[in-house]
Amino acid sequence: MASGCFSPSLTRHSEKAITSLDITVEQGLSSMKLHEYQAKEIFRKFGIPVPKGHVATSVNEAVNAAQGLPGPPWVVKAQVHAGGRGKGGGVRVVKSLDELKQATSDILGRALVTKQTGPEGKKVHQVLIEEGVNIDREFYLAVVIDRSKARPVMIFSQAGGMEIEEVAARSPELVLKEFVDPKVGWMPFQAKNMVYTIAPLPGADTVKELMSLTGALCRLFMAQDCSLAEINPLVITKDGKALAVDGKINIDDNGLIRQKEMKALDDLREKDPLDAKAEQYNINYIRLSGNIGAMVNGAGLAMATMDVIKLAGAEPANFLDVGGGASEEMVKKGFEIILEDKNVKAILINIFGGILRCDVLARGVLAAAEKIDIKVPVIIRLEGTNVQEGRAILQNSNLKFMVAKDMAEAASLVTEQVRRSA
Ligand code: GDP
Ligand code: MN
Repeated sequence: MASGCFSPSLTRHSEKAITSLDITVEQGLSSMKLHEYQAKEIFRKFGIPVPKGHVATSVNEAVNAAQGLPGPPWVVKAQVHAGGRGKGGGVRVVKSLDELKQATSDILGRALVTKQTGPEGKKVHQVLIEEGVNIDREFYLAVVIDRSKARPVMIFSQAGGMEIEEVAARSPELVLKEFVDPKVGWMPFQAKNMVYTIAPLPGADTVKELMSLTGALCRLFMAQDCSLAEINPLVITKDGKALAVDGKINIDDNGLIRQKEMKALDDLREKDPLDAKAEQYNINYIRLSGNIGAMVNGAGLAMATMDVIKLAGAEPANFLDVGGGASEEMVKKGFEIILEDKNVKAILINIFGGILRCDVLARGVLAAAEKIDIKVPVIIRLEGTNVQEGRAILQNSNLKFMVAKDMAEAASLVTEQVRRSA
C-alpha cells in the first residue's frame, strides 16, 4: 500500500534497485508492476507496434501458441517481475518446435535468477511466445516522473538493449531527456529533438514511426497513471519497422483507485506473501530487514517506534500501521502478518488509542493469538481511549506478554528479549 510517509532512509526487505533508469527518479514511489505481455497489450491499445505473441502456462499451450504465429524463429520469454531476463536465460530464441518445447520446459516452473531477482530467483508461472524479430538496431525509450522537476520526462538512447544505467554512467551524452509539460503534453518538436539525433538516420518512414511512437508512449503514461513506461529494446527491424520488443509498465499505487482495469492485472504471485496479505486487508505494511516486529497505529507513531527500536540498539522487522479506524479484524490480520514473519524474534505492540480503541486492539490481538502459536516475547504499551478495558481483556486472557509503561521502556524491553533469545 502506498502511504506516502515513509522515511527515504528505509531500506525495504524485498525491494530491489528500481528496474531501470535514474534510480533516483522512481525511488520512493510505490508502484504496481505489470508483466511484459500485459504491458504489450496496453502498447497495442495505444498504437505502439509490438511483435505478435501469446502467453502460455504449459508446453502444450506454448506449441499451440507458436503454431498460430509467424515463424520459426520464435522467442520464449519468462514472465516475471524482473528485468535482465535475457542474460539470466529467461529469453530464448528458438528455431523449431522441438527447441521451443525444450526452452519452454526449461523455463516454466523454475526459479529464474537475474540481476534484479536476488539469489533466490523468481518462479516462472507463464511464458510469452512471440514471433521472432529480425533486429537491425536497438534503442532505449522510457517515460518516468522526474520528482525534482515535478513532471514526466522522456528518456531516449540510441545505445539501447543494454543496461541504461551503464550507458548513463559511461556515456551520458548518449542519454537524451525531454521534460513533458503536463498542461501542454508531448510536443512534436520534442520527438524531433530525440529521433533526429539517431546516427545514421533511418529512412523517412521509420523516422515517422519512431516519432509517433514517442507520443503514444507519453499518452499511455499519462492515461494509465504510470510511474514507468519503458521500451528496451525499441528496435528497428531489418525491413525498417519500429517495434517494441520488450515492455515494462509500472502503475503508481495512488492512481489505482481510478485504474480499475490496471488493478485487475495485478499478479499477486509475484509479491512477498506478507506484503500481499497486508494489501488485501488495507494495512500499511513494509517489510524491513531487522528482527523486531512492531504493530502500531498511526504512521507518525510507527516511525517514532522504529526510531526508538533503533535507539535501543535493535532493528525493526517491519513498518506496520494498522491505521486509526482499524477494525478488530484488521488488528488480527496485522498481528498475524507479524507472527508469520520468520525473522521476527520479539514483538512490540505500541498503541495510542484514539479512534482505534484499546479494547478493539486487545480483542484483535487475542483473535490472532488463538490462531497462531506465539513463540516470541510480546511487549505491549497501551494508552488512550478505553485503555482500562483493553488492559483488562489482555490480562484476563492466556496471552503471555510484558507491559511497558512508556515507549523508551518498551524499546529497551523488546531489545533485551531479542538479545536473550540470540
Ligand atoms: P530483458 O533481458 O528482461 O530485458 O528481456 P528482453 O525482452 O529485452 O530480451 C533480451 C534481449 O533478447 C533483447 O535485447 C534482444 O536483443 C533479444 N531478443 C528478444 N526478442 C528477440 C527477437 O525476436 N529476435 C532476436 N533476434 N532477438 C530478440
Ligand atoms: Mn529488456
